Formats: sequence, structure tokens, C-alpha cells
Amino acid sequence: AKYVYRFSEGDKDQKDLLGGKGANLAEMTKIGLPVPPGFTITTEACRAYMRDGQVPPELRVEVTMAMREIEDTIGRRHGDFHEPLLVSVRSGAKFSMPGMMETVLNVGLNDASVKGLAEFSGDERFAWDSYRRLIQMFGKTVLEIDGERFASALEAKKKEVGAATDVDLTAEDLKDLVESFKQIVREESGREFPQHPREQLDMAIEAVFGSWNTERARLYRRRERIPNDLGTAVNVVTMVFGNLGETSGTGVAFTRDPSTGHSGVYGDYLPNAQGEDVVAGIRNTLTLAELEGLDPKSYAELMQAMRRLETHYRDLCDIEFTIERGKLWLLQTRVGKRTAGAAFRVATQLVDENLITMDEAISRVSGAQLTQLLFPQFDGEADRKLLTRAMAASPGAAVGEIVLDNAQALTRTQAGANVILVRRETNPDDLQGMIVAAGVLTSRGGKTSHAAVVARGMGTTAVVGAEEIDVDVVAQEVRVAGQVLHPGDVIALDGTTGEVFLGEVPVVDSPVMRYIAEGLDAGLAASEDDATRELVLAVDRILTHADSVRRMQVRANADTAEDGRRARERGAQGVGLCRTEHQFLGERRTYIEHLVLAEGGEAREAALAELLPLQRKDFVDLLEAMDGLPTTIRLIDPPLHEFLPDLTELAVKVAVAKEQGKVEERDVKLLAAVQRMHEQNPMLGLRGVRLGLKVPGLFALQIRAIAEATVELRRAGKDPRPEIMVPLVGSVRELQIVREEAEGILAEVGAAAGTTLDVPIGCMIELPRAALTAHRIAEEADFFSFGTNDLTQTTWGFSRDDVEGAFFADYLENGVLTISPFETLDGDGVGALVRAGVEGGRSTKPHLHMGVCGEHGGDPESIHFFHNAGLDYVSCSPFRVPIARLEAGRAAV
Ligand code: PEP
Ligand code: MG
Repeated sequence: AKYVYRFSEGDKDQKDLLGGKGANLAEMTKIGLPVPPGFTITTEACRAYMRDGQVPPELRVEVTMAMREIEDTIGRRHGDFHEPLLVSVRSGAKFSMPGMMETVLNVGLNDASVKGLAEFSGDERFAWDSYRRLIQMFGKTVLEIDGERFASALEAKKKEVGAATDVDLTAEDLKDLVESFKQIVREESGREFPQHPREQLDMAIEAVFGSWNTERARLYRRRERIPNDLGTAVNVVTMVFGNLGETSGTGVAFTRDPSTGHSGVYGDYLPNAQGEDVVAGIRNTLTLAELEGLDPKSYAELMQAMRRLETHYRDLCDIEFTIERGKLWLLQTRVGKRTAGAAFRVATQLVDENLITMDEAISRVSGAQLTQLLFPQFDGEADRKLLTRAMAASPGAAVGEIVLDNAQALTRTQAGANVILVRRETNPDDLQGMIVAAGVLTSRGGKTSHAAVVARGMGTTAVVGAEEIDVDVVAQEVRVAGQVLHPGDVIALDGTTGEVFLGEVPVVDSPVMRYIAEGLDAGLAASEDDATRELVLAVDRILTHADSVRRMQVRANADTAEDGRRARERGAQGVGLCRTEHQFLGERRTYIEHLVLAEGGEAREAALAELLPLQRKDFVDLLEAMDGLPTTIRLIDPPLHEFLPDLTELAVKVAVAKEQGKVEERDVKLLAAVQRMHEQNPMLGLRGVRLGLKVPGLFALQIRAIAEATVELRRAGKDPRPEIMVPLVGSVRELQIVREEAEGILAEVGAAAGTTLDVPIGCMIELPRAALTAHRIAEEADFFSFGTNDLTQTTWGFSRDDVEGAFFADYLENGVLTISPFETLDGDGVGALVRAGVEGGRSTKPHLHMGVCGEHGGDPESIHFFHNAGLDYVSCSPFRVPIARLEAGRAAV
């Protein structure tokens, strides 16, 4: 392998091999910008080092050759006594890991060459300061000596001579300091500071390789989801000095404003300084305009270089530069980090400047950035007191009084208060409270817990799994961070960061959200300044383009007409999932109770008859809101126990009543039924199609309600487009039975109304067996919808309601998972089943319509997977519809 690339040999597309910094240094060299001569040691060399525990022997040879070339180019020798060549040794991985890995400057100085440097630069103080920096950095990063030792020696020296800052130390002081530093090296490492320049270089290179695997670097990678096996490249660059007097200096610059995206040049400059001094903020920096006054020639060169870079990268770039005695050098560039708002504005500005196409513009922004723009946000400037930090389950910024149950939530909101519902965990019983609450906070549960899923669906801010919070409903207390809070106390939730604050935190509204919900004019009207108006226009252009290029449609998961309308406003092209079980919560629960308790056909018929008009009304409302758009209605899919009283509570109640001799017959019956239906693993129990086949008449009732609602709306001149979906199918026979029944009902209701009801009947693919036998299931299905929540649960064997709180934190820590598979689709495992399902389905019916309605349908990374897998649509919560539109567009270009 070739381990060393001269800057003149690589280019920007070789980030895997040369790291980000190395690839960009090569690119700048290639386009003729002034980069100090140097070379990059590849990430492959680092991987070899990690594998073998030693630097590959060929590397030493290649380094010699590259060093000699530099020496010849600039006419100086590494470690020369008179005009020494010095180099910096810098890490540079594929993905930037700021501050995580090592850098050593001034490599090549020793007791002899420091004198040469003094002579050659004409600045003795500078030479000795450079030497002491080398020993300090080398000692700390290469020899792993506690940096405190050097820092305190430096402090002691300053005190001794009465120097206020480092700059006040004289050459003589610095000479003394070099001696002290060498003594520290001797004491701490048991060896002399290496005098041989090549030994310094080799040791520094090895140290950079080694820094890839430090504890903090590993931790950082885990958090940023950067793979551990990439390794880092090492850049060896000729030193140039910004600290050689007033005609030298160092700075950073952006080709456009990274917070507004406005074109123009932004940056800071510090005369007579080295890079570290800028970062350390010791002295106040100058603006680039002030640099123009100081050094017009270098300034003009800098402007030209920045223009070149923007033209070349066709994007906002940031750079680090040094001026050494009036000569400009570029030390680093990269496509610059920017805020979410700037990303959208820069993308459209570059289109307007004819530097990129609209296809490129949509790939320059992300769904995650759009998400940030949609939520009201806490004012970061305001005073805030952090109580705890937990899982950011549903974004937004919510402020309100603590309430601990539905009753409190209702009373307080009716009195005009904003409330935050605080619970240990939520269940369908808490729905009322969740609906009126501005935010939901739970101390248990993960990102797909009930609280999280429901809150996301409603667009309500939620923070879940806040284990440091102790919710004590009996004492009416919430204990956290040594404080005891009570209902009525105000807290603030940041659903984007997972932070929980005490007290009021001011919130700023999002004009982008106004645009999404109410259209361009409303968005512009809500914008208070030009920059925001520009942003709204940019988002509009980008979304419009994404819509025009995407292949996948975007539908919404909507249970009610209200949700449906909301989704439609945001651009949903239909409903991909209406969870009908949600229509049976609250007061209607008693009807389900009647159904369960019904003994014999007649009682059951009566119970079902009670439900029919209610369901019909639900569907009329939903189908009317979705007029003309496909609306997938899923037949009921609950674990039944969710609708029945808690077994323990009921058993206690009955026992107590018996004791007192006033037990009610109804409760005894109910208890027997609940006992009969009690399941150890309800999620693997009587759910979905199993329930439909077990309880006669239940599915039939729903199908009849759909059919009658369709007839009613057609009579009113509407265009309802229902689709019937069967949940939790594992065998084609299950679907066949339901289908037969459904077709019978549709035919009967249609005939009675003198019309044909051609309602598609399909099923969820949410069990591994369904995915694996999709070719058979497709025989009976008009469409498939992948239920990736249950598919993830059943593929991994992870309970979607429990595991996130239980051990995901450990699994993320030890690297088994890099992200919850309930949040981003596990492409290798669950994804393989999705692909198998698609392939199986299409092998039977080449045009079988397929989508996904699990939570993953709104997750950016997963959306790209579904596009590639060939799905026709994704369905997600109404709030995420614009994000899915954008990502589906990005996936298509
Ligand atoms: C699923 O399992 O992915 C799904 C959409 O159904 P539910 O979340 O209602 O189980
Ligand atoms: Mg499911």
C-alpha cells in the first residue's frame, strides 16, 4: 500500500483515505492556493497500526522520501542548525472530531536548531518560545505527561519575574523555562526530551495514531455515531509562523455569514499570534476589514482565495490562515458548519448565483434541519435553571404548570392555564390530559413508549424517561434535583434537547411552521425581519422542488378528522394509517366492556349495534376530511386488556366488596372476564387479526361502518377513498378469512345502496413470518403496509414498551446499538425483512402498492432506506409530513 500522499497528489474526494483535513489541503494545493508544503499519512496506515500495534515499516521509508522532497522544495533541512525546517503533525479523521485528537507543532526544534531559528528569524524570544511550546505539547500528547506540570512551571516563572502574561516573558526567561520543561520530561517519563528531529517526528506520528483510541475520542464517536474502525490520517505540514511580529498574524474566515447565509466575508484576525492564541481568546481579535487596513496586499489575496474556494466547492467554506511576514498561507478549509436556517438560505442563494442546481440545493439541507426550524424554541439568551435532562421524545418548547392527572389537567386548562402533564408513564387513560397539555413529561419509557408515540402524533412536546424524577401521585409531589415540586409549579420542557427547566422560559415562535400550516403568505406575514422572510421563501422553494422530484408519496398517520385536516394542510397525500382502536378509548370503553361480557350471540349483537353508529360517524368525518385522497383504515388492533380494568385493582375491589357483603354481580363477571383474558405477553397475544377472528362480529361491524360511511358520503356528492387494512397478519389464511367476510359486507351494503364499493383490502406486514411469506399473503392483499414498530419488536425480540428505559442506555454505551432501532430502521436486520416482503409481494403482484406506517416513516435515514427498497409511500405523523416530503425528495436525486 501507498501510505503517504503529497498534498499535490490527493483531492477532496479522498476523505476516506486522507481524512477531511488532508483531502481539503490537497484540493487547495491542486487549485493553486498557497498551502505550505506537506503530506498526509493515510487512515490505512492508522488502521495497520491499530491492527499490528506498530507503524508499518514501509511508512518510515515513505516519510523519509516525502520529507526530503519538502526540504528540497523550500531549501531548508529538518533540524538544520542554521535554517531549520519545522513541521506540525496534526490529526485529521474523515469526520471532524473537534478537540478530540492530538496536534504537535514545531517538530524539529532541539538545543541546536533553536539557535538557528533565532538567528534566521532574527527573533530570539520567538525561537525559545517555539521550543518551549514544542516540549510542552510533545510532553503532554506524546509522552502523556500531565499538562498541569508544564502549566504550573510556566505560572511559577511568570510570578518569579513579575510577568503579567506569556508575552511578557523574555528570551532569557524562556530559556530557563525550556530547562525546567526538560527536567519535567526527565522526571515524568524517565527519558530525555528527544533531540533528534526524526525521532520527534516518528513519535508524534505514532501519538496521533494512538489518540484515535483514547477514551474521550471513543466516547465522542459513540455519541456522533462515527464508526470506530475508520482511523485517523496524519498531516505533516511545514510550519509557518503568525507570531513573527506585527506583519504576521493568524485568523479564521467564512466565505459567507454562517448564521444568516448572506454572502460577504466574515472572520477574525489576531496579529502576532499562533492559532492556539486565537482559540484561547487571550487578546481581542480584529475584523477582516481591519486587516485590510493593516495589510492590504494579504487581505486582497485572502479575498481572492476565498472566492476561489467558494467557486470551487460551490458552498460556504471556512478557512484557517496565517500571514507570515506579509505572506498569506492557508492552513485548512472545509465546507463550513452552519445553522439550520443558514443551510436553507445558502442553498437557495447558491442556486440564484447559478453555482448549484435545485437538485443539489435539496441535498444540501436535511430533514433534521427542517425539524429544527418548525418548532417554537426557547430563547437561548434567557436565564434558565436546568432540573434534569432525559430523552427528547417529541420536539417543541412547552411551558406550563405541573399537573399529575387528567382531572387536574382539565380543571387547570379550563381555567386558562398551560399545563405540563407529569406522569411516571402514560397509558391510553391519560389521553385526555395529553390532549390538553402543552407538554408531557414521564419518568419512565423510551422513544416509542405510549407517551412518546402519542405526543409525537399530536405534535405535543414530550420528554420521556427522566429517571431522576420521582413522580409521587399519592403525596402529590414531583421530586427532582433535590427539589420538591407540586402541582401548579411551573416547568419548561425542551422536546428537542430533552432538557427540563424550572420556571418560565420565554419561547420564540416559528414562522416556518406558520408557512407549512397556513401557506406562504401567512409564513411571510409572521416573519419579523428580512432574514426570516428569506428563510421562509427558501424553505418554500426547496420543499416545492422536493415534491416535484420525489417518487414516494407521503401520507399521514391520522386517527381523527382533525388530524387528517392537519396532515392535509402540511401536504399529506392521504392517510396511511388510522388506528381505529384509538376511537374506542375514553367513554366508549364501556361499549367494549359490554362486548367482552356479552354471553351469547344476542347480547353481543346488541353490544355491537351500539357501536355501529359511532364508528360510522368517525369514518364519515375522517373520509370527508380526506375527500379524494386514499385513507387507510386499520381494523382494531389493541391488546384487549388495554380496554379493561386492571386485574389487580379489580380483584382487590371485588375482594373488599365481598368482605363487606355488597359485591356487585357485574364486577364479578367482569373480573372473571379479565382473568380469562389476562395475558403474560399481551403484545404477543390476542391482538390484531387474532382478535378479529376470535370475537365474532367485531371486524364486521367496522367494515360495515366503513361501507356505510362511504355510501353516505357518495350520496352527498363526495369522493371518499377508504382502504381496509388488517393488522398483525402472519398467515395468508388469516387475511383470506377476513377478506371473504369483508367482500360480503361490501357487496351487501353496496347492493342495498345501488352502487359498487370497490374498497381495496390489504394488510400490515409487521411480523417476520408475514415478510417471509409475503408472496403468499400478496395473493389475498391489494396492498401492503409495513408496520416497522412491531416488525422491529418481533425481529429483535425487544419489547417496544420496555427496553428503551431498561437497557438501551447500556447498549448504546457498549456499542451494540448506535441508535434505537425503534427510531431509525435497523437496515441490516429489520430492513432485510422489509426487502424480503417487497420482493415477495411483487413476485406475486408486480404492481402491488406498498408503504410503511411505523414510526420510521417519518425518520430521515429510514426514509432513504424505504426509497431504495422500492416502497410507494411513507406514512408518518402529521407533524413530520414536511420532513418526509423533503427527505423523499432528497432520496430521489
Ligand atoms: C407498527 O407496528 O409499525 C404499526 C404501525 O402499528 P402499531 O404501532 O399501531 O402497532
Ligand atoms: Mg403494529
